[in-house]
Amino acid sequence: MSLEDLYREIILDHYRNPRNRGDLPSPPALRVEGFNPLCGDEVVLYVDVVDDEGEGGDRVADIRISGQGCSISQSSASMMSAAVKGRTSAEARQLIRAFKAMMSIHEHRLDGDGREVVEAVAPNPEVKLGDLEALRGVVKFPVRIKCATLSWNTLAQALDDAQSTRGRSDQAKVEGA
Ligand code: ZN
Repeated sequence: MSLEDLYREIILDHYRNPRNRGDLPSPPALRVEGFNPLCGDEVVLYVDVVDDEGEGGDRVADIRISGQGCSISQSSASMMSAAVKGRTSAEARQLIRAFKAMMSIHEHRLDGDGREVVEAVAPNPEVKLGDLEALRGVVKFPVRIKCATLSWNTLAQALDDAQSTRGRSDQAKVEGA
């Protein structure tokens, strides 16, 4: 079996048998929706981020996915859920960046003088992508890259939301003290 065939098998397997399909009660889980208008893909993430009291900080204790769309968007979401479940938020963010690097995503940022620069997300050889490598071929089809990154961008949004919610409740604790 060629590597290309193997990759196709992995993508089809996740499309036909999506991992972590369903939902979680929200709250406490965060519910975040993502939409890719170019293709009509939609993803709804339910992410349960818990604080492990110092053991590596926040952790993605559970994740569920609903929504519908093309095979690339749905299999990418399934692989993403399997890859980040149980990981710390920091590890999940590293995976998001590694995946974006594989997709040749360019990001806008400000340099030291406040000028906007556009740079490719740098790959991190420390981060192992495993099955996610199967989506590497998508980069050859620029119109499909947004299908592949949809669930990852939605996850990044969920992690940001979790962090700001945590910030607020910490504040509330301080105020209540
Ligand atoms: Zn799509």
